[in-house]
Amino acid sequence: MLKSIGCGSLRLEHAGQTISLAGWVHRRRDHGGLVFIDLRDSTGIVQVVFHPEEAPEAFGVAERFRAEWVAQITGTVRPRPEGTANPNLGTGDVEVLASATVVLNAAKTPPFDVSQDAPVDELLRMRYRYLDLRRPFMRENLRMRHRVVKFIRDYLDERDFVEIETPILIKSTPEGARDFLVPSRIHQGSFYALPQSPQQLKQLLMVAGTDRYFQIARCFRDEDPRADRLPEFTQLDLEMAFVDRDDIIALMSDLYTELIQVIRPDKHVPLPVPHFTHQEAMARFGSDKPDIRFGLEIADFSSIVAGSEFKVFSGVVAGGGVVKGFAAPGLASIPRRQADELVELAKRHGARGLVTIALDEAAGSLDALTLDHVRTPARALSLDEIKSIATACGAAPGDLVLIVAGEEPQSSSTLGQLRLHMGERLGLADPNTIALCVISDFPLFDWNENENRWDSVHHPFTAPFDDHWERLDSDPGNMTAKAYDLAANGYELAGGSIRIHERARQESIFRTLGHSPENVEAQFGHLLEAFEYGAPPHGGFAGGIDRLVMILSDKADSIRDTIAFTKTQIGADPLFGAPSPVDQYQLDQLGLALAPRSPDPEKQ
Ligand code: ASP
Repeated sequence: MLKSIGCGSLRLEHAGQTISLAGWVHRRRDHGGLVFIDLRDSTGIVQVVFHPEEAPEAFGVAERFRAEWVAQITGTVRPRPEGTANPNLGTGDVEVLASATVVLNAAKTPPFDVSQDAPVDELLRMRYRYLDLRRPFMRENLRMRHRVVKFIRDYLDERDFVEIETPILIKSTPEGARDFLVPSRIHQGSFYALPQSPQQLKQLLMVAGTDRYFQIARCFRDEDPRADRLPEFTQLDLEMAFVDRDDIIALMSDLYTELIQVIRPDKHVPLPVPHFTHQEAMARFGSDKPDIRFGLEIADFSSIVAGSEFKVFSGVVAGGGVVKGFAAPGLASIPRRQADELVELAKRHGARGLVTIALDEAAGSLDALTLDHVRTPARALSLDEIKSIATACGAAPGDLVLIVAGEEPQSSSTLGQLRLHMGERLGLADPNTIALCVISDFPLFDWNENENRWDSVHHPFTAPFDDHWERLDSDPGNMTAKAYDLAANGYELAGGSIRIHERARQESIFRTLGHSPENVEAQFGHLLEAFEYGAPPHGGFAGGIDRLVMILSDKADSIRDTIAFTKTQIGADPLFGAPSPVDQYQLDQLGLALAPRSPDPEKQ
């Protein structure tokens, strides 16, 4: 080894020892005729002093040091002089007096300052990722990611789960996104698909008699750019046989609770983990992944305003829509311009508009409220209606009520977004709390207006409630899935379901989804056949590792900050320059010819 100890390990107990270090010059300062170096390696930073008389040769070398040069230093550890200790540094009580040094490599001036966590353009960070990863916060994120994955492995190993790898070159495994395709050279004209998830493989492992499987699995989905989604991501993928829904929900909740408690003991996890039905989560929070760190719960005013003189509201209710809203405490006197901004925000999130009711604090109490205390564009609302609305959403004088009128589920989901906005604006979401919740009872199917057919809400392998099978032909829209999600602070952490394990039933779901028998045979024949050889009841879940680390780290602004080598939102890798054209020889070997480029990426 070129070093006897890590820079970040040095403490007072090492005083007097002669040691050797190797690392990067983090900073250099020339001060009082001495040269001071902060030397950095993967363990941390320590201060090294070069003295012109005590080690003239080393001093001469150190004078040439620049940021990010690689150096080996030999010296003696000593306490820092009185009054110069640095309490912000683990090694802040000591310094190393250098006796010799060797330049292991010089370095060009980096395109950004590696010695601090200051914001840098993300494209530049990705282009020079190996420098970006030297920065303290990125190093911490990667270490946290390692600890998260290690915790998961140990936790599941203790519970008799077996980690099994599944192939990356496979046939299409539909999870609702587009596949990445890999052309085969040996089987010209045929393609592999990269797995969108190991879904069918883990189900086959259950048929194979593996009761408890997991994998830290790489998944690939060729989706259009979306914030916080990447074409390539990692998830904890898990499956169990001989279980029902509540067994998996319990495992999933316990695993994530303990994981958070171990990785972030400083965070508060409210227990027990609450469990909402999908319907309840949408009704109360306007989201299927609610942030429950704060209230601002949504109330339904439809019955209150059904006969109102304010025709906007009564008309919507008469047309089968809803009128819903919530109270933002203390915002009654919000300036006009900010109220207009809220209307714009509601429109951006799909509502036709937003009606606000400001209740003047001067009223003192709801009982004493008069129309003089009310500021609202909905002037035709009666005082009684306003009081009932306020009571329904828990509004008091001084509060602002935000109301959306329209169709469902759009109205609830708009209010869900406004609720998140208000939670943040009012500082209601405690950053030191990670509030988990389980959401279940999702519908099995969703009507796809554009394509005029049913889609699976989760995926086609999800089982409905046992007594809902009889609705498959008559009322598929009313079937509830044995599916569940785990959410935290407004993010989905994990999701899964109990699966169908009988051929005939799986076929009937494919039929309802509009697949032709030929298509089913071609895409899923292997799975259906396996179900005929004694498939046990089974279920599982998957949870994104990237997002989990992002939530656990206070230092990750995006999932990209949790991944060593990552891609831009449009799937480009600025470091390697991928994706890139290939040469004609490679295309010829694959039997491929490129069509002229289409200007519309959908058609490419
Ligand atoms: N395969 C699903 C997914 O990737 C998760 C599951 O149902 O286990 O989202």
